[in-house]
Amino acid sequence: MLAGHPIAAEAPFDTPELGEPYLLTPGPLTTSYAVKQAMLRDWGSWDGDFRAMTAEMRRRLLALTGDKNDEFDCIPMQGSGTFAVEAMLGSFLPRDSKTLVLVNGAYGQRIAQTLNYLGRAHTVIDKGDYMPPRGTEVAAALDADPAITHVIIVHCETSSGILNPVHEISETVYGKGRKLLIDSMSAFGAISLDVNEIRYEAMVSSANKCIEGVPGFGFIIARKSELEAAKGRSHSLSLDVHAQWAHLIKTGQWRYTPPTHVVAAFLVALRQHEVEGGVAGRGARYANNRDVMVAGMRELGFETLLKDHWLSPIIVTFFNPAHPDFSFDRFYELMKDKGFIIYPGKLTVVDSFRVGCIGRMDEHVMRRVVKAAGESLREMGVDTAAPPAAAIAERAKLAA
Ligand SMILES: *Cc1c(COP(=O)(O)O)cnc(C)c1O
Repeated sequence: MLAGHPIAAEAPFDTPELGEPYLLTPGPLTTSYAVKQAMLRDWGSWDGDFRAMTAEMRRRLLALTGDKNDEFDCIPMQGSGTFAVEAMLGSFLPRDSKTLVLVNGAYGQRIAQTLNYLGRAHTVIDKGDYMPPRGTEVAAALDADPAITHVIIVHCETSSGILNPVHEISETVYGKGRKLLIDSMSAFGAISLDVNEIRYEAMVSSANKCIEGVPGFGFIIARKSELEAAKGRSHSLSLDVHAQWAHLIKTGQWRYTPPTHVVAAFLVALRQHEVEGGVAGRGARYANNRDVMVAGMRELGFETLLKDHWLSPIIVTFFNPAHPDFSFDRFYELMKDKGFIIYPGKLTVVDSFRVGCIGRMDEHVMRRVVKAAGESLREMGVDTAAPPAAAIAERAKLAA
């Protein structure tokens, strides 16, 4: 039985399980043994046991938002995170709406691209690779265009690792009488999105990010009034959030085949999340992971793209070293040989790579990551990880 999983007896974070490499990537990420083990049995999607699992999952996710007045509900959606983002956009943006998309990386761009597919009017503030959108410029854009009804922001823009100022943006948006949607895919569960502190209509996240489950579905947490208003609005049968919600309420079941094993694993992940101290506990471990890893990498001469203030506890972008003998592909392979999968960068201007801080890892693992990076540099004959001058010049733009 699920309830019997040995959460308390879980091996320490720094014991490599099953001999796998650690995934220093922002999802899929390294999961616990108990999470993997939960997938070793089959479930009937219509059966009462599985319906109870879905109900517990929705209840636990909602609890993470601090929704005391029963104003919100949680709707899981099959597919990867992008499917859930598309479901949210198609369901909560009326056909005659106009949305301001705040873009500072690949995931903001993907939202704008999705709105193109959906044929929903939108305009974009594009801050480039990693500059944060600020309240003042959003206020100016809303004043300049009264047709804008909604604003959407990416909480942690995973392409650079920047933690966007959602609180500031929310104050601005509601101060101007508009509505906010949030892509909190890579932040929810580790960074607070408490509805009593940050106002929004709907947010979206997925199973394989900060809750530390395996990939297979996303979920939308939305104000019930918005869910009701979404009836008949979606462009898509399978991505209709209102229809999924209505079916869940009526039958306790997902509308179409749910990823049963993924849900079973996710429930264990949610219980472990609670044992760790919820959002605060999870966020504290990730922040410590980041601090230990960044300090060690800086000692090796690596430099972060972002100033400390904007560094998320989710993933950190480092500039590639300027040294002529440095090659990312070789560095990747050397790190993998030592048990760590790192992540290529996504910046357009300068070469970079990323190291994730999320997943079942702690500071002891992060120290080993730094040690492996130092050894990999030595094996390449790179005596300093200092970035090129162009990278530093690029970063100087963030001085504000
Ligand atoms: C991971 C992620 C997504 C969804 O990506 P998928 O590959 O579809 O799971 C969307 N937005 C952000 C910010 C993400 O980090």
